[in-house]
Order: sequence, then C-alpha cells, then structure tokens
Amino acid sequence: MDASDYKIIWQQVLEEISKRVPRSGFITFFKNTALIDFDGEKGVIATASVFSMNELKDKFTQITLEAFGSIFPEMKVLEFTVDGSLHEHDERVADVLKIAPDPSKPKKKEALPQEIEGGMKTKALHDQYSLENFIVGPDNQLAHAACIAISNKPGSTYNPLFIYGGVGLGKTHLLQATGNEIKKKFPKKIIVYTTAENYMNEVITAIRTGQAEKLRTKYRLADVFIIDDIQFLANKTQTQVEFFHTFNALYEAKKQIIISSDRPPKELDELESRLRSRFEWGMMADIGFPDFETRVAILQSKCQDKGIFLSQELLAFIADNVSESIRELEGVLNQAVALYELKHVTPTIKMLAPKLKKLQFKTQAIDRFDDMVSRKAKTIDDIVDFVAHYFKLRPEDITGNSREQQKVFARQIVMYMAKKYFNYTYQYIAHHLGGKIHTTAMHAYQKTEKELEKNKQLARDINALLHDMGVL
Ligand code: ADP
Ligand code: MG
Repeated sequence: MDASDYKIIWQQVLEEISKRVPRSGFITFFKNTALIDFDGEKGVIATASVFSMNELKDKFTQITLEAFGSIFPEMKVLEFTVDGSLHEHDERVADVLKIAPDPSKPKKKEALPQEIEGGMKTKALHDQYSLENFIVGPDNQLAHAACIAISNKPGSTYNPLFIYGGVGLGKTHLLQATGNEIKKKFPKKIIVYTTAENYMNEVITAIRTGQAEKLRTKYRLADVFIIDDIQFLANKTQTQVEFFHTFNALYEAKKQIIISSDRPPKELDELESRLRSRFEWGMMADIGFPDFETRVAILQSKCQDKGIFLSQELLAFIADNVSESIRELEGVLNQAVALYELKHVTPTIKMLAPKLKKLQFKTQAIDRFDDMVSRKAKTIDDIVDFVAHYFKLRPEDITGNSREQQKVFARQIVMYMAKKYFNYTYQYIAHHLGGKIHTTAMHAYQKTEKELEKNKQLARDINALLHDMGVL
C-alpha cells in the first residue's frame, strides 16, 4: 500500500465516523488528519498539532476504532502522532467537508466510492460494461448466470468463479460488469480488478523494492478480487507463488474471487498444478462464439448505445460475415458508425462488403456481393434500380403512378439525382419515369433540394446512394 491507498482508506473510515458524530464536531476534530500507516490491524493517525492529537485521542479513539472495524474486521490498534507539516491542502489529508457535506448544499455525486476504487485497484472498472448490456445467448448463458448469482451474494455462491473462452468473446466485459454490479449493490465492499499482467508487474516492483508484504496486504483487503487473463501467469513462477498465497488468504476469508482465462484450468499447462486444481474448486463456465441471432442482438444493442440506427439487413450482413470474435464484429460496426457520423452516409452492404473482405472474413459469402460491388449507375434505368433496391421497392413502383408516400418519396429522389448528378433534362427524366410532365420532375428537384437543408437523414441516404452508384 502507498500513501494514496492510505488516504482512500482513511476517507472510507472518516465516512463511517461522520455517521456517528455530529457534523460540526466531526469537522473540527478530524480536519487536517491523515492515515500514515496501516496494515489491516494497526493504523497510525497523524494530526497537525499536539493539542489536536490529544483531543482526538481522548474523545475519539473508540469511535475511530469501531469505524475501522466496520470495514477492516482485523483492526485492533490505533496510534496517534503529530506531523506539524500537515495542512488542508496536503495530499495525505482527507477532505472532511467533502465527506460530511453541508446538508443545505446539493450533494456531489458518488465522489468517494470512485476514489476508493482508484486507489485499491490497478485498473479501473469501466462504466460501459454492465450485466444489462451483456447480451445473453446459448453460448454465454452459464457464465452470465454465474455472474448474476455472484453479484447477489459475493463470496458465498461460487468461489472461485472461473470463466474461460477465446479472444474477444466477452470475458473482460463480464468480469468488469460483475465488479460494477457488486459495487452498485454493496458500495462498502472493496473490489479489486486487475489483469494478470498488471498483477505480475506489481509483484516485480514489490520484490525489487522489498515491499512484497505490503502488496500482499493490499490484495488481502479486497472483498472481491477479479483477475483477468490468468493464462498470462504461465511460467511466471514467482508471481504464481504470490498469487497462490493471496488466493488462499482470500478464499479462506470467504472473499469472492473471479478469474478469466483463454483456456480451462486443466489446459493451463505452465501453471502450477496446485493453482490449477484450486481453480476447479468453485464454478467453471465457458463462453463460446455466439450464434447468429445473438450476434445480431449484440449489434443492435451496440447501435442503441451509440444512438444510431442501422438497418436490420445491414446488421444481419455484418453478423453473418464475422465468425471469430465479438471484437471483430464491433470493429466492423464501428466502421459503419464512422461512415454514418463522420461522412454523413447511411452505411450500406455495398460499402461494408469490401471492408469485410479485406479482413478476410468468410469470403465466399462476400463473393456473392462482388457483382453488386462493382456495379455502377450509368443510365436513368440504373438510377431507378439503385434507388428501388435501397428503399426495398420494385422499379415499377418508381416508374408507375402510385401515390403511396414511400413510392412518391423514392421517385422524387430518382428525379433529383438524375438531374443533379447525371445532368438529365427535366423533360427526359419525366418522360422516362412513366411519361410524366416535365414540371413534375422540376418540382421534385426543388422540393428535395429544400428538404436537404434540414433533413440530415435524407442527406445520408443520398450520400449512400451516390456511393453505391459509384458517383462518390
Ligand atoms: P475478451 O475479454 O473475452 O477478449 P471482451 O470482453 O473484451 O472479450 O469483449 C470484446 C468486445 O465485445 C467488448 O467490447 C464487449 O463489450 C463485446 N461483447 C462481448 N460479448 C458481448 C455480449 N454478449 N454482449 C454485448 N457485448 C459483448
Ligand atoms: Mg479480455
């Protein structure tokens, strides 16, 4: 543990104290104090003057010990010391006004848990991962259910929980989401999320600086210990030994342990067998590549998160042509989103097909689109075909006289594009679209031009059509 950990712990303890002491007294006696040493059993509090130290000692030793004890059950001894250099803005000093805010002023949202998390873990839990936005299908159902069970009763359901599966299938998402969910349900619990790689780096640093014991303490304070990509510890003997001790300590204290790996425990050949066997003590759940329907549902949910609407047909096309990982699926989706947001184009299959092909996804499927991809619009009949296909109409719907809104709309777009990008005369256009009079084409042109000034979606559709026609 380092100074920032002490500060975070002290903030947490002060929060407990503030619940037991009137606000004015709390602020008077605990301002400019710091926790300068702590090992889970013994803590040393520094104050700025002898006077305040004596006051604190006489009046608050018991309450402070109790507050510590409510978070760290092993806590036994409290010592006090004076550090004349402590002042309000000292990095070590906790802000009592923040901890016991003036009730007449609006509260700042969740300042404390955020900071606790920052100090105790080596990598942040990211808000974007939740159990709700994890789409469940037959191939990840078990792992998801186990995470739900654990988040309701950490430490007492499945321990450890061991989740395994290939790259990009949602392990990190599930681990982070479970951490977030526990944090939401049990704000007091200390949740430590780390990757095995990070953990190893910490172990190396601790060994180099002779602080292995402090590192152990840090991890043993966790109520929930989440370690991602454990396969990374293969052949890292010393880190494995450290991890073994931490695992045992947490396990015996009934603290929840969650592990992810790219393989099941028995295939982790380069890991000590005593570790591998421990991984099998609790619950093991594998994650596989989701089926087509789940992939489409994932894409839909990501679109929703991003606030963009893409056609079902396009999402199905992406889902159908990605067969490795959800990360790839997202990569293609992000390209579609970039087209939509940066280039103001509604992404079409024709635009995405070459990108998917470049990534060498199921190329046979994409080959079917090759003809389509190379096709360009040259004549007015081609324009009709492209627009009809885009709006899922038949060419006759456009050349005919139907007054149905969608058909009229598509017809106007054909007229507009034929004039603007292909330089046909109004006369020619009107004549070719079922023998209409030329003012109809002129009217369609003007109306579309005007509409384009305020309708972003129309602009995206026309850009998409221009792209597909080979004009852009
Ligand atoms: P892993 O850790 O297994 O390599 P990740 O958890 O990093 O995979 O997942 C890769 C991406 O796919 C992430 O953006 C994640 O949110 C997303 N993802 C994976 N599975 C799902 C799912 N079932 N629902 C929603 N998103 C998912
Ligand atoms: Mg991962």
